[in-house]
Amino acid sequence: MASTADPENTPLTRPKLTADALSGQVDLHCHSTASDGILSPAALVSRAKSAGVTMLALTDHDTVAGIAEAQAEAERLEMALLPGIELTARWGKRVIHIVGLNVDCRATALTEAIEQRDRLRRARAAQIAERLEKRGFVGAYEGALALAGGGVIGRPHFARWMVDEGHVSDTAKAFKRYLGAGKIGDVAVSWPELEDTLVSIRACGGASVLAHPLKYGLTRTRLQALLADFHRAGGDAVEMVCGQQNPVQTREIQALVQRVNALGGDPEVSDEITRPPLLASLGSDFHQPDQPWRALGCVRLPAGVEPVWNLWQTDGITAQ
Ligand code: AMP
Ligand code: MN
Ligand code: MN
Ligand code: MN
Repeated sequence: MASTADPENTPLTRPKLTADALSGQVDLHCHSTASDGILSPAALVSRAKSAGVTMLALTDHDTVAGIAEAQAEAERLEMALLPGIELTARWGKRVIHIVGLNVDCRATALTEAIEQRDRLRRARAAQIAERLEKRGFVGAYEGALALAGGGVIGRPHFARWMVDEGHVSDTAKAFKRYLGAGKIGDVAVSWPELEDTLVSIRACGGASVLAHPLKYGLTRTRLQALLADFHRAGGDAVEMVCGQQNPVQTREIQALVQRVNALGGDPEVSDEITRPPLLASLGSDFHQPDQPWRALGCVRLPAGVEPVWNLWQTDGITAQ
């Protein structure tokens, strides 16, 4: 880890949340054109406002380039905008996503974390394109790059290019046939490790959230191991609700988190300092308007969990 900041001595950024910020819907996970979203940061904020969102975190993949524009629009519309990011990370051989909330966008540690991933993403994009071109998909690189429009390039841009060119009928099929796990466009990348990612987020004052725990295709035993590692390494919260989720799934995550919290952070080393319990976060993971299962603001925490915003100054205010 190249960061020079001392994460232990970097306090969490503690914005003061107003009653207004928690008076409507809270959505702490969404994407703009700065990464693989379809709406510009300003259009995204405006859409969130219309959907009744009073506190939004913009969490683009591996970038904070959209934050300034989103913040300006949020100020104009009088809604709370938290600077966030969704960092790509590695747990063993698995790719996982860690959301950083309330990050200091100017912190060196964050810039370094972003630059590291930018290099990996560019190299991966070139490799994906090379493999696709070998399969006859000529122009994949230029096409995906153009769709990324100067933002962080990802597999969705290749998927959209394939749809635009008529190679597949929709992006889900592009993933299923060419870009998803085990397909030719699934290039192995040595993303920064979970532990280093948590250090980066802490070093820029942010709270770390394990994104969409049920999306990694892990067995319950492995998922509990991931949650325990995340907790032990300093993770702050888990997405209890991500997008449209059925109550059974929510209870499943809740039960796993409870079990991990009961272990206190480290089941093996008894004299280890006990970690504070994992808190609960929520987000739509909105990318584009035509996906009703990931609509902005359509998420709500179950009763009886402690929300991640308790890390910030709420002065006893609770969400509706
Ligand atoms: P990347 O960050 O480039 O590895 O791409 C991951 C992104 O691809 C996710 O954040 C989703 O937006 C999108 N994605 C992943 N799997 C699928 C899928 N099966 N169908 C459509 N989009 C997907
Ligand atoms: Mn995405
Ligand atoms: Mn994700
Ligand atoms: Mn996401």
